Amino acid sequence: MNTLVQTRLAERDKTVNWHPYTQMKTAGNAIPIVKGKGIYLYDDEGKKYIDAVSSWWVTLHGHAHPYIAERVFQQLTTLEQVIFAGFTHEPAVQLSENLLNLLPENQKKVFYSDNGSTAVEAALKMCIQYAYNSGKEKTKILAFKNAYHGDTFGAMSVSGRSAWTKPFGSMLFEVVFIDTPNAENLENLKVQIRDLAEDIACFIYEPLAQGAAGMLMYKAEHLDELMKFCRSEEILMIQDEVFTGFGRTGKLFAANHLTEMPDIMCFSKGLTGGTMPMGITTCTQEIFNAFLSEDQYKTLFHGHSFTANPLACTAALASMELLLQEETLTAIDRICAQHSGFTEILMQHPDVKNVRQTGTILAFEYKTDQNTSYFNEIGKVFYNEFLQRGIIMRPLGNVMYLVPPYCITSEELDFIYLNILEVLETLIDFTPSNNVLSLKTEK
Ligand SMILES: *Cc1c(COP(=O)(O)O)cnc(C)c1O
Repeated sequence: MNTLVQTRLAERDKTVNWHPYTQMKTAGNAIPIVKGKGIYLYDDEGKKYIDAVSSWWVTLHGHAHPYIAERVFQQLTTLEQVIFAGFTHEPAVQLSENLLNLLPENQKKVFYSDNGSTAVEAALKMCIQYAYNSGKEKTKILAFKNAYHGDTFGAMSVSGRSAWTKPFGSMLFEVVFIDTPNAENLENLKVQIRDLAEDIACFIYEPLAQGAAGMLMYKAEHLDELMKFCRSEEILMIQDEVFTGFGRTGKLFAANHLTEMPDIMCFSKGLTGGTMPMGITTCTQEIFNAFLSEDQYKTLFHGHSFTANPLACTAALASMELLLQEETLTAIDRICAQHSGFTEILMQHPDVKNVRQTGTILAFEYKTDQNTSYFNEIGKVFYNEFLQRGIIMRPLGNVMYLVPPYCITSEELDFIYLNILEVLETLIDFTPSNNVLSLKTEK
């Protein structure tokens, strides 16, 4: 294929498509991708890119995995969709059984939806209606300042206020935002919560790693203590594992790093191995029981047309099978170890700060005088440079991060590390005053 074809597809795309999180006026042409295989994506000129961010953190086992494809195809020719009110099917039952087996033992029921945001919406509704059904009125929700829980209105409300939520500010519901816990502030956080505890319906949090905020990380022991306190204050806990679930943190779930158990958990992203959109909200028996009644008004009136779509359930079943294979678990361990070795190297680097790692997630910040917001131009500079080198990284402002598919080999990972060091060493001398990128050493 030639450049003309590529230009044409990009032009056609521009004519009809509105891309997510993209300022369409200044954005360059979207790159047409024609094929995916393993960690690679191929554009229509045959150039291949390593998908170092797992296509927005969803692809676990690489692209177009033949086993998942085969299972989905079988399902597609058997039962592609059925209304999930009044009906059920094997993939949904099996998936719920398999998932619950892996979760903290207090998780007893599975509620299906379509993506991470809707998994969060369902969780919030469960908590608010839990209070309502119990004859209490609880109107406040507790969340972390830099939280990100999705882009629908409820999910936006419990996300940190930012450029992303600004136009909708007055329409978002009331949320009490606290800092993420550390050894110093924990006691203070408890005081803040205790004062409001009676009105708080639930506490929602991303465990261990706050993804969209810029891969911010905090310790399991501090979250455990915060959870213990919320439990004692009878505040329901929603653990949003949309990003951290399915091996990202080095263990199957962030929950496996914790001793405390949440009341509700949310999943999406890696759930289907990145092949199909699906969300899951799980909850305790106690929450489920609060909706059991002769009174119809106590029903959870929530659902989506594609709730528990059999194809997505099958993709999730196949992906979870792959995830639990010895080979994959070993690969996750290897990535964690390799990341931690590279972390040591990055920490010595003069242009880098705040190097951090949680399992397969590695992040660091480029030192810059510019504001360190999402809009920091340096992110775009890095993005384009890595693209040229055939690596898809998508910095959040000055935060660079890696979230690779688990099938990445140790050589491929080294190749990415090497390129990061090269880019840092030879290329970047970013002058904030004139937004000019110059070469430190001419290439
Ligand atoms: C991505 C994300 C969401 C939203 O999921 P979508 O599928 O994009 O709606 C929610 N919570 C967390 C922690 C996420 O990372």
